[in-house]
Amino acid sequence: MLTETDVIVIGGGIAGAGVAAELAGERRVVLLEAEERPGMHTTGRSVSVHSETYGSPCVRLLSRGSRDHFLEGVDGRSFASDRGCLYLATEAQIERLDAFGGQPTVAPSIERIGEAEIRSLNPLFRPGVVVAALYERHAYSLDVDAIHAAYLKRYRRAGGVLECSAGVAKLEYSGGQWMAEAGSRNFRAPVVVNAAGAWGDVVAGMAGVQPIGLQPMRRTVALVDAPTGVDPSRWPLAIDIDEQFYFKPDAGKIILSPADETPMDPCDAWTEDVDVAIAVDRVQQVIDLPVHRVAHSWAGLRTFAPDRTPVAGFDRQAPGFFWLVGQGGYGIQTAPALSRFAAAMVCEQGMPSDLAEFGLQAADLASERFACRE
Ligand SMILES: Cc1cc2nc3c(=O)[nH]c(=O)nc-3n(C[C@H](O)[C@H](O)[C@H](O)COP(=O)(O)OP(=O)(O)OC[C@H]3O[C@@H](n4cnc5c(N)ncnc54)[C@H](O)[C@@H]3O)c2cc1C
Repeated sequence: MLTETDVIVIGGGIAGAGVAAELAGERRVVLLEAEERPGMHTTGRSVSVHSETYGSPCVRLLSRGSRDHFLEGVDGRSFASDRGCLYLATEAQIERLDAFGGQPTVAPSIERIGEAEIRSLNPLFRPGVVVAALYERHAYSLDVDAIHAAYLKRYRRAGGVLECSAGVAKLEYSGGQWMAEAGSRNFRAPVVVNAAGAWGDVVAGMAGVQPIGLQPMRRTVALVDAPTGVDPSRWPLAIDIDEQFYFKPDAGKIILSPADETPMDPCDAWTEDVDVAIAVDRVQQVIDLPVHRVAHSWAGLRTFAPDRTPVAGFDRQAPGFFWLVGQGGYGIQTAPALSRFAAAMVCEQGMPSDLAEFGLQAADLASERFACRE
């Protein structure tokens, strides 16, 4: 069976769903997802935070350019709720805290606070351990399921076609068209968007396109009970300034992570007990948190380009091949801006003006920025 369309999007995570939704009003789009349902890889495993100070300067711009989308939500329901974010420092980390806080794309969003204020935000902090923090008041918890579902709903309403259990196994270019083979189904279009997450370089390989050098890295998360009588719901996210751990409240429980970055091949990521134990140990060093059991744990792959900034743009050497990969640990909080940017590039409409005003430049996201691909 052959389906002719304008754009084939490969991957139904937040990246693929977002760009498909943005394109659907302008182009005929087919969204191909290998799994039985979209969002079961990295998108379904995040810890759902929006912070405008996290990630590279370009990531921060994309996050800033995404904030209104989250606050507005759909049908009067916001996708974002107040959370706040604390970057923590012990005495030995103060210099690094101040160097981070002095960066021009960080400084306007944060205030430096001392131990008393830190403990007023979360009374479980152990006295004399964390002595200073940078407080990003306007950081948010996001409803990732709702954001992803809203993109898919908008996409379908605009006539977009979602095919699940449709893993693309072959991609060929001839006569100005890409042919994607997914099982017994074939799809033909002049443009293919590679939004395959951890499999981004695998998809490029199928197409005969030079890979970026994407590196999937496993990150582990554990969910534990709050101490009896403690309501953690208003605690900010707390992250070590050297990103050795973080923790945040989640539906009455507490999410802990050792902030691990274990290089992996693309796969359905799993947890290792040792990473869960490291998370508990590191968090217990800074807060008084008895842990009697781990209620649940999971892991996902955060996939980075070599400079830890996403790649979005047409490949110069392969006509009609569009990269939308390398979202690392920021793919949810950057999705609205990145999706709009990607759709505008696919439609050759130029940079959306609001993103240009934030200072975003197409060259910062282009695949050609890597020396091996110039
Ligand atoms: C523990 C953890 C915490 C995180 N916390 C945050 C956070 O707080 N804030 C934030 O912004 N980000 C966070 N992230 C990162 C964020 O989740 C990712 O950046 C984002 O989900 C990546 O989305 P994606 O669509 O690129 O990838 P995915 O969601 O993995 O989607 C890619 C899809 O492509 C499909 N696919 C692959 N190959 C093929 C093929 N050949 N044919 C068809 N389909 C294919 C896969 O099945 C998959 O569904 C976190 C990640 C982890 C693991």
